[in-house]
Amino acid sequence: MIKITIPKEAIELHKNTYCKEISQYLRDVINSTTIYIDKNIPHARLTSGEKSFLEFILQHINEIMIADPHRLEELIELITTEADQQFVNNTTCRDRIYKKILPKIFDYESFRDGISWRFDKTNGKRLSTKNEKWNGNIFIEKLGVRCCPYCNRAYVFSVKRENSQKTVKPCLDHFFSQSRYPYLGVSIYNLVPCCTVCNSSLKGNIDFNLKDYLHPYCDEHLHDHFKVNIATTVKSLKGYKLKDSDIEFVCSEKVQKHVNDFALKEFYKKHLDYIQEIVIKINDYGDKSYWDSIKRYDVADPLQLLLGNFWQSEDINKRPLAKITADLCEQYGISIIDD
Ligand SMILES: [Zn+2]
Repeated sequence: MIKITIPKEAIELHKNTYCKEISQYLRDVINSTTIYIDKNIPHARLTSGEKSFLEFILQHINEIMIADPHRLEELIELITTEADQQFVNNTTCRDRIYKKILPKIFDYESFRDGISWRFDKTNGKRLSTKNEKWNGNIFIEKLGVRCCPYCNRAYVFSVKRENSQKTVKPCLDHFFSQSRYPYLGVSIYNLVPCCTVCNSSLKGNIDFNLKDYLHPYCDEHLHDHFKVNIATTVKSLKGYKLKDSDIEFVCSEKVQKHVNDFALKEFYKKHLDYIQEIVIKINDYGDKSYWDSIKRYDVADPLQLLLGNFWQSEDINKRPLAKITADLCEQYGISIIDD
């Protein structure tokens, strides 16, 4: 994982579309006599505690939608304290707000699918409109991230099939759990493009925080804390067939939880065949005739052509397994040979 920067343009789009729409929707919910929750509760009346709590959310709506992860973590504290005060001894109201009302307002699936909502004052239901100017697909495109920042093993493309309305939907992880903090369902700094294995099978509902985990939009780089190396017991790479036990990991205390929760050591060992190929290429790298044969193609980065992957740390997010490639190049001091 290397730091991902959300472009200003994306933040502005989020602020000027979803943030405005959700603010208005929230305002309408607060001011409405009744709201439609579901078919069992079609004309719900908000209690004064529920209204006060939603007003508190409305006061912080801009920050909720576009603040950075550190501020989001502070907002979680503030909002949890407010909920504790408003819903003291009233788990029914708390559950209704957290499980029924907030998920409909901060509706992640709609952002992913390109749907906007406005409040229907006649019946308290939601009216949908297609939003093709700003949605999860466009967000991932603007980020320019091509593969999962958590594992660097899978692409995160989302595509629309020709002659079909069907789209492969993007997978956006909620760094801070959506089920625990439903008001962060469409917060731009809480949406991390990632692969389905990391999102659903591994991270799931684990309560991530900034103390124990690295956030892809914050300053820290996982790459600086976790390296894939060949064991020093392997003295010569020439003709050597690697074994599982030859793969070693350098892992600082800071990223232990990340590495464990995403099973990075276990998964990377499954790529022994890839590591073996990189090791062979690194070995050939010193062979001048091989190097010359690559250079004749006149590509911008002949070493990338030789290795079949990006090899510099800043390019890790561009292709799966580039992290392994970069780590091994660093271990063996590989870089472009000048003439
Ligand atoms: Zn992943």
